[in-house]
Amino acid sequence: MLEHLRTALNDKAYTINRVATSVKYPASFILMASMNPCKCGNFGLYKCPNKDCFEFSPESLKVCKKCKKKMVRMCHCINREIDLYRKKLSKPLLERIDIKILITKSKTDGWDYATSSVKKKIEKARKIQQNRYKGSPYSCNGDIPRKAELFKYDKTNHETIMNKIKEKGEKNGWSWRVQDKLLLVSRTIADIEENATILNKHLELAEDIMGLNNEYFHMFE
Ligand SMILES: [Zn+2]
Ligand SMILES: [Zn+2]
Repeated sequence: MLEHLRTALNDKAYTINRVATSVKYPASFILMASMNPCKCGNFGLYKCPNKDCFEFSPESLKVCKKCKKKMVRMCHCINREIDLYRKKLSKPLLERIDIKILITKSKTDGWDYATSSVKKKIEKARKIQQNRYKGSPYSCNGDIPRKAELFKYDKTNHETIMNKIKEKGEKNGWSWRVQDKLLLVSRTIADIEENATILNKHLELAEDIMGLNNEYFHMFE
C-alpha cells in the first residue's frame, strides 16, 4: 500500500486504470509520516544510572559522556530484528521523502521553537520562491522535478554547489534523485535564511536533515 505513494509523490498525480477507462487525479500533497526506529522503539538509546540521563548513539556506548557512569542499552532488539523492521520501507520510497530525522529523547533537549516565528520564516521563504518561479508552472522548490528546471529560474551559485554535490554523491553512491533533492533542500534552507546564494552550511544542514549522514537510514540499503 505504502509503495503506491511513490508514483503520487513523484508525479503529484495518480492514475487509476480500469478496463474501459483510466482517470488521472491531481495528488499534490505533503507527506508526513512517523515510525518507531525498531520494534521496541528504543533503538540507539542508552541510559545511565542517573535519573533522566539518556544518550543516543547508533554504536554501542559504554560510559555516559556526562556522568562517566556505565550505561545500559535500552533497545531489546537483535540486529536482524532491527534490519527487518527498517526494511518495511523500501529505498525508492525513502528517496522520495525529502526530510528524514531520527528523533530521540535527548535530541529534543533545549529545543525552543515558537510556532509563530517558524510560520513567519516559512511565509517569507514561500514568497521568495513564488517570485523565483513567477510565470512558470511551479510555485515552490518542492514542485521542481529535476535540477535543470531550478537552473532555469535560479541564476545564482547553483553550479558550484551542484559540483560539490556531485563529488560527494559519487563518493557516497547517492542516486541522481538524491543529488537533485539535496540541491533543492539546500536551496530551501538558503531561502529560509534569506540568502540569495547557497552556502556550504546550507548544504551541510540539508545533508543532515535528509538523513544522508545518518547510519540508521543507510541500513535500509
Ligand atoms: Zn549520565
Ligand atoms: Zn529495539
